[in-house]
Amino acid sequence: MARSKWRVEARRRRGRRVAEITGDGRYALLAPCPPLTVTLWRAREEAAEAKQRLDQAGCGGQCNPRLHHIVDLTEASQLFLLPQR
Ligand SMILES: [Zn+2]
Repeated sequence: MARSKWRVEARRRRGRRVAEITGDGRYALLAPCPPLTVTLWRAREEAAEAKQRLDQAGCGGQCNPRLHHIVDLTEASQLFLLPQR
């Protein structure tokens, strides 16, 4: 699969601790519970559903569902907001 601009954008904005970027689309679902994972979705609804599943099931490791959030990659002002420790 060719590298899409969304994956490039997600990678550009990633924090150093991003372990994995999967999927494709302008909406990025972030699970900053270590290790940070990012999944990309084409529609906000898809991202929201994925977040719901992730919130319920947990993303593994030390999961805190409150940390899960969705970022619209078209909004230039929104960077990946990693929890500051
Ligand atoms: Zn989590």
